[in-house]
Amino acid sequence: MSTDFLALADRQLSGEALSREDALAILGSSDAELLDLVAGAGRLRREHFANTVKVNYLVNLKSGKCPEDCSYCSQRIGSTAEILKYTWLEADEAVRQAAMGIEAGASRVCLVASGRGPKDRDVERVNDIVGQLKQEHPEIEVCACLGILQDGQAEALKSGGVDAYNHNLNTSETRYAEICTTHDYEDRVTTVERAKCSGLSACSGLIVGMGESHDELVDAVFALRALGSDSIPVNFLMPFEGTPLEGTWLLTPADCLRILAMVRFACPKAELRMAGGREMHLRSLQPLALHVANSLFLGDYLTSEGQAARADLEMIADAGFRIVGHDGDLQGLSLTPDADTIGHVAIRRRGAGSAVAANT
Ligand code: SF4
Repeated sequence: MSTDFLALADRQLSGEALSREDALAILGSSDAELLDLVAGAGRLRREHFANTVKVNYLVNLKSGKCPEDCSYCSQRIGSTAEILKYTWLEADEAVRQAAMGIEAGASRVCLVASGRGPKDRDVERVNDIVGQLKQEHPEIEVCACLGILQDGQAEALKSGGVDAYNHNLNTSETRYAEICTTHDYEDRVTTVERAKCSGLSACSGLIVGMGESHDELVDAVFALRALGSDSIPVNFLMPFEGTPLEGTWLLTPADCLRILAMVRFACPKAELRMAGGREMHLRSLQPLALHVANSLFLGDYLTSEGQAARADLEMIADAGFRIVGHDGDLQGLSLTPDADTIGHVAIRRRGAGSAVAANT
């Protein structure tokens, strides 16, 4: 039996929590129901975020050489992925990179470092960067993502000016040991709780497409709901060559939309971010996903290239959304299509009935 997704959205708006049965019905819905599902999720998205899109920008402070073995990660121990590897960026360089994202429209900068977790000296280092960044851009929100936190470190980051802390649960508790053996699910939950208790906004999300079942996906999302994650990034597995999940392609674009919609229905007020891998998995459905998610990362990811920033901004504007913090065109980035896009109309040279040619 098919679900009435608009009626389900109305039930969420009246305060009802999404049931496991309805979450599974969303994940199991057919392609024919996809637009109805997006309409229902879109009703929740509009209620809580209107037509705004929050743009985040990643700065990778420390890349690669991680001793942990998260199987999805190009920075893990034993990874042969040919990524950039470096230790901590100087503060000036980190601030310079962050400024590029801010100028391109980001209202939140995410400062990320590989590794199991920070030493106290690393927390001080990050606080120095945050101090300098906020002096130059007082309006910017900063999220730190430094791994497992020890006692007192969340409080130290909070007093250093950090606004939010990211630590993803990634997958369900029952599946966690299959994707990582050097730390466990409980370590991740504890860090999210530490962040919340210190007054930092909690950012915790998922990596989907690692072979999880619908039940496991619902477990993971309901765990995020129970933790009170304010912000939920949904990453779609990028199966890097040289990692154990190399060659794992399990998602269709429609699956990705169903997953985003399930998260929206389960956590209607959470900032829902379509994160790493959106380009290769959602593909041409990315603009449709903006009706469900209300946030994205601009440009490149930690160790891989994303869609060009300009293409992201045009996609947001074309779909009728407004970027948080920018009511009009962005400084230096007019959203009027450029000459490559509208400069000329290519005259057809092929005759009627000729073979369909690949675009060149
Ligand atoms: S701890 Fe972070 S950087 Fe290290 S392997 Fe896991 S996800 Fe990658």
